[in-house]
Amino acid sequence: MRVTFCCEDTRPDAWLQGLRAALPGAEVDIWSPGAPQADYALVWAPPQRFIDEQPGLKALFNIGAGVDALLPLRLPAGLPVYRLEDAGMAVQMAEYVCQAVIRFFRGLDGYEADMAAGLWQHRPNPRRVDFPVGVMGLGRMGERVARALTVFDFPVNGWSRTPHAIDGVRGFCGPQDFDAFLRATRILVNLLPLTPETDSIIDARSLALLQPGAYVINVGRGGHVADEDLIAAIDGGHVSGALLDVFRTEPLPDGHAFWRHPRITLTPHTSARTLARDSVEQIVGKVAALSRGEPVSGRVDLRRGY
Ligand code: NDP
Repeated sequence: MRVTFCCEDTRPDAWLQGLRAALPGAEVDIWSPGAPQADYALVWAPPQRFIDEQPGLKALFNIGAGVDALLPLRLPAGLPVYRLEDAGMAVQMAEYVCQAVIRFFRGLDGYEADMAAGLWQHRPNPRRVDFPVGVMGLGRMGERVARALTVFDFPVNGWSRTPHAIDGVRGFCGPQDFDAFLRATRILVNLLPLTPETDSIIDARSLALLQPGAYVINVGRGGHVADEDLIAAIDGGHVSGALLDVFRTEPLPDGHAFWRHPRITLTPHTSARTLARDSVEQIVGKVAALSRGEPVSGRVDLRRGY
């Protein structure tokens, strides 16, 4: 068996070591142009040339949960593409989103500013009922996040394409429920995949439907947010602030207005990092199941886009 690794911006050592240890006897290499045909590939944002030069792959494993970087590529018809399913990312996402929601709810940035100014003072107590959280996308990431938020007794809404029943979460689904979901939400958390249907979904219209004093936490993809619309909604006062982890162009270009906006906090696409050990374990398990002819979960529906 030959396994090839073609992952932009990823340090390969832990991946190659893990794959070689788990697949003794397999040839495991980093792809370069002209490399021999492999059976399986681990990819992150591969170039079209990689796809064109590897027509005999039995399966493609995306080393992330979102496959938007694969959607523009011409892939061989019938090539199964698998994505990472949680693989240690969902708990990180829950940590990240809960700390952000709590930070907005408790007004901690205001307290930090007060203390830096030498001011010892209490601000009004917020009421949880005034801070309903809406999670867009109730998949591996979104469901874990929504469940974690219910632990803190926030009112939680969830929006997905198909119905999901999650204890303590008010479910909304499909385009017909979208406006009602937004109207019921003050803190919006985006955990959708980036597809033609969800591109720029957080635009002026969606932001205007959120409750006044809204907050936006974007941990899905940068392409979900219309950047100018978000800035206008914050400057206009309807949205109070945003925490953004993902951007249309990464790294975020110098001079982008997000860098210096006082109500926008940024992190460098770090809310849920891919963990090499957990991911290799999951992928190797799927390779073994495929070679036994067993069904394997996490196959991407490329027409749907996730
Ligand atoms: P899943 O495929 O498990 O879940 C996707 C969810 O989005 C599903 O609930 C799906 O609905 C819903 N959805 C998709 N399209 C629509 C639509 N048009 N309208 C309404 N709901 C829709 O993905 P994950 O939870 O594993 O990951 C979600 C995304 O999070 C990734 O695609 C990636 O972009 C992002 N991510 C970001 C990370 C980071 O570090 N910032 C790390 C990991 C993921 P249904 O259940 O009905 O199909």
